[in-house]
Amino acid sequence: MKRLALSLLALSVSSALFAATAPTIDPHRLSDDVKTLSSDAFEGRGPATAGEKKTIDYVISQFKAAGVQPGGDLKNGKREWTQAVPLLQSDIAGTPSLSFTVNGKTENLTQGQQIAVRAPLDGSKAVSLKNAPLVFVGYGVKAPERNWDDFKGVDLKGKIAVVLINDPDFETGVGDFGGKAMTYYGRWTYKYEEAARQGAAGMLIVHETAPASYGWATVANSNTNTQFDVVRDHPSSAHTPVEAWIQRDVAVDLFKAAGLDFEALKKQAQTRDFKPVALKGEGFTADFKVNSKVITSYNIVGRIEGTKRPDETVIYSAHWDHLGIGAPDAKGDKIYNGAVDNATGTAALIELARAFASQPKPERSVVFLNVTAEEKGLLGSEYYASKPLYPLATTVADINMDALDPHGPARNFTISGSAKLDLLDELTDTAKKWSLVYSADPKPEAGHFFRSDHFPFAKRGVPAISFGSGNDWVDGGLAAGKAAEDEYVAKHYHQPSDEWQASWPFTGMARDLQILYTLGSDLANSDTWPNWSKDSEFRAARDATASQRK
Ligand SMILES: [Zn+2]
Repeated sequence: MKRLALSLLALSVSSALFAATAPTIDPHRLSDDVKTLSSDAFEGRGPATAGEKKTIDYVISQFKAAGVQPGGDLKNGKREWTQAVPLLQSDIAGTPSLSFTVNGKTENLTQGQQIAVRAPLDGSKAVSLKNAPLVFVGYGVKAPERNWDDFKGVDLKGKIAVVLINDPDFETGVGDFGGKAMTYYGRWTYKYEEAARQGAAGMLIVHETAPASYGWATVANSNTNTQFDVVRDHPSSAHTPVEAWIQRDVAVDLFKAAGLDFEALKKQAQTRDFKPVALKGEGFTADFKVNSKVITSYNIVGRIEGTKRPDETVIYSAHWDHLGIGAPDAKGDKIYNGAVDNATGTAALIELARAFASQPKPERSVVFLNVTAEEKGLLGSEYYASKPLYPLATTVADINMDALDPHGPARNFTISGSAKLDLLDELTDTAKKWSLVYSADPKPEAGHFFRSDHFPFAKRGVPAISFGSGNDWVDGGLAAGKAAEDEYVAKHYHQPSDEWQASWPFTGMARDLQILYTLGSDLANSDTWPNWSKDSEFRAARDATASQRK
């Protein structure tokens, strides 16, 4: 790998001079983009809503004004501005009838309160479970390479698996699953996938705030609304009819009534010897109809064709979608505006497109990929990565941006989750020119590496990271940065109050985008192929296509 930082140091290029070579990003434009995209008129940018149409029109008009070309689906030999993304859309019809039977007594459950049942994605047109037996399966992990199997051959047919969130060494911080850092086995998406592989009728994930890394409000908000998946050939191999979360207190009571101790069983589940435990005398009943259909949402794609190696591509990505219209908050606000999440990333994409178009064309192509349905499970990026418009083998890197900080500049930056790859080294070297240092994700246990749109690229081997704003603010230091972060997570993340503020200066983002511009521009004007570290789980997938890269 060519070490850009070293070659530049050798040339004695000063930090100030270097910074001056990246085009300026206008914080006012960023603010205007975010303000428009997160306005009530855009209705929270739900996929397949009127808000999507507005969003697409706005982003395309901005890409056009920026001077980039359409890079989407090919139609009659010409690229469109969008890539059609067919999605299975599923809704529970009306109020679902849900209850537990505990020693002969029926305990009714209210959707969104004790339980959050997701609209089925297995192709079911109705769910009718009567007193399905409950089985606690620990962390629900089957990891042969780690010699770990929580199921031990238990028969889950017609039964509901009850499972803990995160992975078996989260609580102790030491073990075979990355210690406190979350492996993919800790993600709720993995839990449901494994439940389907085990042939269960359903799965209830016990919500606990620390290992989930978010509160019940987030669970209720993002699981009781319309659900989506990419259209699959065999949906029931990826989903069970019932996919739900329950509150911890509900689980503790259920265990108690079955003569079991939740905390004691949780401890057992942290060991290899754990065996599934039936919750005797208890059952789960669910009765509801499902409205499902296939709808089409869109990724928006702008592109600058490379002058020398147009078939080699650097991708910048960000999701445009948010939660749309949902349950009202205490103030009665039903529009989940998603200003930070992720009007900021979309604005960043637009302004990066403008910056690239203002400069001489790069040698490699640069794609600005504004994906849909991130909030529904990274579906737009999953679709792109499964049906890439430009081959993944010759995609140099994906630089993703999600929920950037609209405040002033920080002295550091981060990436989502923990990963080892050349791309991060290059970003770190580039950021040094602006005197920024890399701070590792302080909460790798939250599994952020699996929670943003770079992940569908990463799991297919494409070097990919999701850039994160720093929290050591130039003005106010770590105290101020952390306070703002904490406030965002507690009060605004995935809530209707994630709204644009006139007081946001966007100066930190504008500066950070110069760094990301430089990283992408350096890659687009080089012939290097950054890779994953030797011990990365994504290295093998990348190396498998090595012969396609010259
Ligand atoms: Zn996001």
